[in-house]
This record gives sequence, C-alpha cells and structure tokens, in this order.
Amino acid sequence: MTAVIHRGGRSPDVIVVGGGVTGTSIAWRLAESGKRILLLEQRGICSGASGRNGGMTGAGSSMHALSRGGRAAYALTTENLRVMKTLAVELDRDFELRMSGTLDVITTTEQFAHLEPAVAAERDAGIDVELIDTDAARAIMPALSPHILGAAYTRDRGHLWPFALVNGMADAAMRAGAELRPGTRVDHLAWSGDRVTGVVAEGETILSEDVVLATNAWTPRLLPDLAQGAIVPARGQILVTQPLPPILACPFGTNFDKEYGRQTPGGQILCGGYRRHDVNQGLGSFREEVTPRVLAGIARCLSDLFPSLRGLARVVRAWSGIMGFTADGLPLIGPYDPAPGLTVAAGFNGGGFSWGVIVGKAIARLLNGQEPGFDLEPFRPARFHELGGDVAWANPFTAGETSDRVESVR
Ligand SMILES: Cc1cc2nc3c(=O)[nH]c(=O)nc-3n(C[C@H](O)[C@H](O)[C@H](O)COP(=O)(O)OP(=O)(O)OC[C@H]3O[C@@H](n4cnc5c(N)ncnc54)[C@H](O)[C@@H]3O)c2cc1C
Repeated sequence: MTAVIHRGGRSPDVIVVGGGVTGTSIAWRLAESGKRILLLEQRGICSGASGRNGGMTGAGSSMHALSRGGRAAYALTTENLRVMKTLAVELDRDFELRMSGTLDVITTTEQFAHLEPAVAAERDAGIDVELIDTDAARAIMPALSPHILGAAYTRDRGHLWPFALVNGMADAAMRAGAELRPGTRVDHLAWSGDRVTGVVAEGETILSEDVVLATNAWTPRLLPDLAQGAIVPARGQILVTQPLPPILACPFGTNFDKEYGRQTPGGQILCGGYRRHDVNQGLGSFREEVTPRVLAGIARCLSDLFPSLRGLARVVRAWSGIMGFTADGLPLIGPYDPAPGLTVAAGFNGGGFSWGVIVGKAIARLLNGQEPGFDLEPFRPARFHELGGDVAWANPFTAGETSDRVESVR
C-alpha cells in the first residue's frame, strides 16, 4: 500500500469520511479555519440520508425528555436553527428555508396524553410551543380533517431543500480549499497501535493527523469497536405527489413524530413514516428499497389527515433512505476516546438537519484545540463502549411501540 499525498503536495490535516449534511458542514468549517481537508464519499455528495429525507428542521423534539441529554440537544439544535437562518447569505445559495412553524397533529388520546406534559416542559424551558385545539389548528391549516383532536404548534420551525443546502456547503468547502473525492469508498481506518493515523480507501493508505467519521448509519462498519447496537440502520420511506396548489400551510408531524409531511415551495407534497409496517420496523437494513405496505400506510395517513387530497393528489415518486438510529436516541459527537486521532459525528436519528450545521462548527473548534461551545458530554461517542457491550435499546423514535390509531381519523 502507498501513502497518497494530498493535492498541493502535502498530506491532509483531516480526512472527513462521508458527504452528507454532517460531513460537508465539518469539511467546510475546518477548511475555513485553515486546515487541509480531504473529504471522501463512497457515492455522490448528498447520496445518503441527507438526499432522501423530508426536509423538516427546527430545535429539539418533543420526543427528547428534558434530561441533561435533552437540554444539550435543545442547546445545539437551537443554535443550529439560528445559524441556518443566516446560511443562505453566507453560502450565497437559496436552499428554500421557510420558517412556517410546524403542527404536531394529535389524533389519539394517547398522543394527547404524551404531548400535554411534553409541551408544558418545553414551554418551561423557553420553547415557543403551544397546545391548540382543533379549530385553532384548522385555522392555521384549513385542509386538516375536522376529526383531529388538536395540535402542538411550534412557531420557530420550518422546512428546507436538503440537496441545495448540502451541495451549497460542499461548494463552500471547496472554495475554502478542501478537496472532495466522491466515488471513493473508505475500506477501513489506518492504525498505529491504538491511534488512528488515516484511512485505507480503494486500497490506498492516506495519512492524516485526524480522521472524522461522518458516516451516520454506516459508522459501525468502519468502527467495529463501537458497541453493538449503538448505531443501527433504520430505513425510512417517502412518497411525493405531483405539484398541487398551496394546501399544507406548514409541515406536520403526527403519531409521536412517526408520520410527517410538508408541501415544497414548488407545490409537491412529501409524506413519510409508517416504518412499523416495514420488515423489522425498517431496523437493520441497508437496502434502499420501498415496500408497498409502508407506502400504503403513508398514503392513508395523508388522505385521512387531509381529506381534500383524496382523488386530487397523485403519487409521482417514492424513495427510501437509511438513517442512523442510536440506542438512546442521541447522536454521537466528539473525539472517540479509545482511539486518539479519531472523531465521530454520526447517528442523527430522524433529525440530522437540526444538527449538521452547528456540528460542523463544533467539530472544527475541537480539532483546532478550542472549546466546542456546547455541552457535548451526553453525546460522547464512547459512551456505549464503556457499557461493555451491554447496550439497552431505548430510542424514543423507534416506530413500533405506539398505536396505528391514526387510521381512526376520518
Ligand atoms: C426517509 C427519511 C426522512 C427523514 N426526514 C428528516 C427530516 O424531515 N428532517 C431531518 O432533519 N432529518 C430527516 N431525516 C434524517 C436525516 O436525513 C439524517 O439525520 C441526516 O441526513 C444525516 O446526515 P449525515 O450527513 O450524518 O449522514 P448521511 O447523509 O447518511 O451521510 C453519510 C455519508 O457517508 C457515506 N459513507 C458511508 N460509509 C462510507 C465509506 N466507507 N466511505 C466513504 N463514504 C461513506 C455515505 O455514502 C453517505 O453519503 C430523514 C431521513 C430519512 C431516510
């Protein structure tokens, strides 16, 4: 194996593996700070979960309890949103960010019982969210079924065009001097003792001071040392309609965030969810396939919540993507303590666009020897390693444990 020299005649300071929202953001901020960066992506930029998602963004989630981890998640995602609002100018790229607010639509008494205390706790923590009744929800989004039970309305949330944002950050990284190599698969990490010294990609050894894994669901493949079950692939599916006149005033979620959707500025309606109708709830699979039962559930959810779409909306496309779900529902962000030279930023569950922008800044600070500016302790990548392989699955976003009773809304 040969050690490959980076463009410009010198080895990179940092190799970033993965070209999604997380990897491009990290590469950009590090290149901006003066580091020599090489980003390696096995397929194309934005070809993983980042190019296959719903495009919703905001701070936190009612599924995060306000424990230390939940508060740290809110701090990071709140700052992510603040920076996101300035990014179109910074990147000189319109990624169609629309801060329309979001409605978490309540269709079951079970969901109401969860949201009532969750919303109260969020309000105590200073989050601008309120529980509203059916009429108030329908005043915001008249297309909603009159049979819903109400909604949680969060004003400071919205949606965006993920592909434009990620490619905007990739372009900014290149302008700042980073080299991006799509179509380059990292086979494994290069080691010297317990220290990571670079990567082996397509049979070539590339040395660097630091390696960052921004490989989301695929992370355990490059880090076999990671406790089993810490990050698990989770397949999500989405269907899309033809462009329609404005019908959905803002993005919606329902059934414990398990179904969600929005209308793009171009008029297409996207809707996803129903992982509980997938094989093993979509967990454990890297196959980017759609399945009829899941798509049927999503279509039913859409027409039940928005009856006027029946007979009007035609599905023109469907796709799937692989998320990285973590055992405790929190991502892995920071140095991987057992292996000096290795940093991990992965496992963003169903919400990477609420994290990626700020995670880039935090990792860039860390690799420049500065304080990250956030409490990253709850996200320590080695936290599962220290459990000695005894990883209990307690992910609040997992699909199967709640009801299918959204179907009762007519
Ligand atoms: C159906 C669906 C709906 C979603 N909806 C939303 C939503 O509305 N809002 C939201 O915020 N989030 C949503 N998400 C989640 C969001 O897409 C992810 O959290 C986010 O994209 C993670 O970004 P990432 O850059 O960490 O990972 P990814 O985008 O998955 O990028 C990881 C990259 O690493 C590359 N890679 C892996 N292994 C290697 C290797 N060995 N060598 C080189 N490259 C490698 C992969 O090819 C991939 O491109 C959704 C996801 C899905 C699938």
